[in-house]
Amino acid sequence: MNKITSFPTELINKYGLAGPRYTSYPTALQFHEGFDAEAYQRHVSSSNDDLIPRPLSLYVHLPFCKELCYYCACNKKVTRNTQRAEIYLQHLKKEIEMQGRLFDGDRQVIQLHFGGGTPTYHDDQQLKTIMDHLSQNFLLSRSDSREFSIEIDPRTVSEERIAYLAELGLNRVSMGIQDFDPAVQKAVNRVQDEEATLRLIDAARSSGFNSVSVDLIYGLPLQTAKSFEKTIDSVLTARPDRLSVYNYAHLPHLFKAQRMINSDEVPPPEVRLQLMASTISKLVEAGYVYIGMDHFALPDDELTIAMKDGTLQRNFQGYSTCRETDLIGLGVSSIGKVGNSFVQNLKDIRDWQAAIDDGKLPVWRGLSLSREDRLRRGVISAIMCQGKVRFGEIESRYDIDFAKHFALELELLEPLQADGLIKLTDFGIDVTPTGLLLLRAIAMQFDEYLIKDLQGKAYSKVI
Ligand code: SF4
Repeated sequence: MNKITSFPTELINKYGLAGPRYTSYPTALQFHEGFDAEAYQRHVSSSNDDLIPRPLSLYVHLPFCKELCYYCACNKKVTRNTQRAEIYLQHLKKEIEMQGRLFDGDRQVIQLHFGGGTPTYHDDQQLKTIMDHLSQNFLLSRSDSREFSIEIDPRTVSEERIAYLAELGLNRVSMGIQDFDPAVQKAVNRVQDEEATLRLIDAARSSGFNSVSVDLIYGLPLQTAKSFEKTIDSVLTARPDRLSVYNYAHLPHLFKAQRMINSDEVPPPEVRLQLMASTISKLVEAGYVYIGMDHFALPDDELTIAMKDGTLQRNFQGYSTCRETDLIGLGVSSIGKVGNSFVQNLKDIRDWQAAIDDGKLPVWRGLSLSREDRLRRGVISAIMCQGKVRFGEIESRYDIDFAKHFALELELLEPLQADGLIKLTDFGIDVTPTGLLLLRAIAMQFDEYLIKDLQGKAYSKVI
């Protein structure tokens, strides 16, 4: 998978249109308010009744941040009023109790993720209270193979704090770096010290975290290929297990924070392409494996092993090695996936709190997947996670004739084959190294809901 050697500008321009990231299929755009708390509870109860119920995964959304990063497109609340955060946590505890009562007590939580916002906005005691509450209401795994992770803003964490987070039972950490260049940091209002950040990576290792992941962003204002290479060189000295290098989508009409960025300083498409190409070359040269969709991992990392043995999964946090779980979203705007359904919580904090005060599950919207959705999800997941689709596997799993069922889609794939993104055989579809750069453009051909003319409104560019 890491055999990418060329970056054909022409193809990237041709297929680098707007498109979903397929952390779910159908995507959140298909969720609707007809799916309510009762529908969710029906799916939960049916998942409890499965012959072998799936293990659980928890996503806890902690939306507060002390400062605004101008590139941010997350659902967050920027405030220094810690009282608001305390009120939020009181409600979160109630939601944990409500959700905990719905699921059978012997269903083990094998995956837990604290995301935000800035989870480390909260102090040690607050995080401990939430961990304790989760453990009182769910059966948290103690196995070494559990994936209990937290997103860290290095500006809010000391080496001692890192050690404390490990004591709480967290064993994976993902650190937001984005870029070390002082001018870029200033332009996006996220100034963080390079040395201190690198020390935190070491501290995470010595505290027992068994996976350290780093987030970078290319396409930020004032970035040049040279300046970003310097950031990557510096990050490589700490040799994180995984790296996510995201493409900044400048959409100020959609995200208010981005209006603080001077659009003239955002690198033009040809520089973005250079940034992407040099990043991939550098990381592959340094021994990292390109997993797909902006993710890289060391060859002995579980993510790489899962990619090679065909067990890689994709979920709302990106790629994962965890086998199929039911995901419970906790906190404002969080998304869950239980059985054949998706569910999303209310996205406004006041509405979310009011529902909880009324003793109701704070469900906003969701979706029950049809048989066709499940089939297409299977195909899209095979493209995104394995870089190949085997017709026979899909046919026996979903009881269809692939060539007949997807006659139109196979026709749509022909130009992609002619351009060298895929190889179509009698047995399946194989993504080529060039196609790996454009995975979602391939997956999009199987997306039944995708509007023909996306016009770049709802999605970020593929590259
Ligand atoms: S990028 Fe992260 S830390 Fe910055 S404002 Fe957004 S959620 Fe908060």
